[in-house]
Amino acid sequence: MTPHEETSKVTSVASGRPGRLRTMQAVVLDPKPQLATVRRPRPAEGEVLVKVRLCAVSRSDLDLVRGRRSFRNHPYILGHEFVGEVVEATTEGGASWVGRRVIAYLNPPCNRCLPCRDGRSWLCETGLSHAMGMGSVDGAMSEWVAVPESSLVEVPEGVDDEEAVFAHPLASALEAAGWVDGAPPQRVLVVGDGNMGLLTTLVLHAAGHTVSVLGRHPSRRELLWRSGISFSGVTRPGEQGNELSGSKVTAESYSLVVDCSGHRSGFELAVNAVRPRGRIVLMSRYSEDDGFDLRFLTEREIDLVGVKGGRLDRSLDYLQRKRIDILPLVDATYPLLDGLAALERAATRGSLKVLIRPSAQGGVA
Ligand SMILES: [Zn+2]
Repeated sequence: MTPHEETSKVTSVASGRPGRLRTMQAVVLDPKPQLATVRRPRPAEGEVLVKVRLCAVSRSDLDLVRGRRSFRNHPYILGHEFVGEVVEATTEGGASWVGRRVIAYLNPPCNRCLPCRDGRSWLCETGLSHAMGMGSVDGAMSEWVAVPESSLVEVPEGVDDEEAVFAHPLASALEAAGWVDGAPPQRVLVVGDGNMGLLTTLVLHAAGHTVSVLGRHPSRRELLWRSGISFSGVTRPGEQGNELSGSKVTAESYSLVVDCSGHRSGFELAVNAVRPRGRIVLMSRYSEDDGFDLRFLTEREIDLVGVKGGRLDRSLDYLQRKRIDILPLVDATYPLLDGLAALERAATRGSLKVLIRPSAQGGVA
């Protein structure tokens, strides 16, 4: 089952069983994003067919659209932050999933490498070769998606679809929050006020820590203040002002700094803000590694911790306990037919989480 087979353009509905469409709409990267009519996926042995209820635009999706990451084997369907219902299975074990509401890991565990045996399949040594929406396997910005049974995680009752689509970034935020040493309240700084920065901030605040946020969008101030979190604006390069000279954000005063900025300047702010023997959690993916002076790691005995993903069952459990109000992070919900507009909206500076709902008929919610 190659992406080419799966996403080959079909102009008319193929003859199939009565009343059962064999094609579907999908947001396809080819290599630019486009809305296409494609063949409906047929689950292979060990996979289930999922009817997609909601799919969020992720940071990875935007990186692929912008060409910051590329897997070249176009065309393929984008998206992995989805929630859907299992409608068809191929094995006896898979049959027990039918009718259940699920999300899925990006890739199935290989069950051989150490990270997978350790329950951390997001670090699987097979890399992204089996990751959905990343070039080799079709993603979920579509009406249906085929997913390996071993990737599935059931969404518990009490967790709405709009909450469940946050499970992936929330898993990372929970991992990051796990790096705080000592009982709350600890002084923590989050650099970056995009989705990941805000999510991490809410989780740290809910854990009882004293969180400050450094960001570029003054519009976040109100959203954070409602939760009692202070926000400091950062000037853009070339503008006047030293962000770290203010009273709220003081140099070398934070035991933990989480960098979600995605910019080298953000990392430099994090370095400046962390106290000696403090810790920086890096959640940004930097595409360049030139010019970084990492001597401070040894000179000040700072841990630099990378976080890439986390346990989805833990995420869902966290959502079920309603520890944070995640819904204000939803920016807009688009019908699948407006999938390209959804990608554009998500790429707009300052936008929050953008969702795509295959069943919606039109109009932005
Ligand atoms: Zn593995």
